[in-house]
Amino acid sequence: MNEETSAFMESLSPELREKAAKCTNTNEILALAREEKIALPDEVLEAVAGGAGQQNSCTEDCPNCGKTLNYRMGHYACDCGYYR
Ligand SMILES: [Zn+2]
Repeated sequence: MNEETSAFMESLSPELREKAAKCTNTNEILALAREEKIALPDEVLEAVAGGAGQQNSCTEDCPNCGKTLNYRMGHYACDCGYYR
């Protein structure tokens, strides 16, 4: 999650934040936004879209620290020591 998305999540009520946190793809976030009449900042949309698209690319966030993992030679590695 990037800064824009974090800031956006902070601006939501705790209830909405909980719902938004459960969204795993762009469609779910969009549906929630429509339902709750939330204006989604472009940065957030891009971040969410990017997040959903990551499953098909070599880019993934570290499950330990959230940084972007380095993909090399069939393995993911992170500065924090995460490796798989
Ligand atoms: Zn890490």
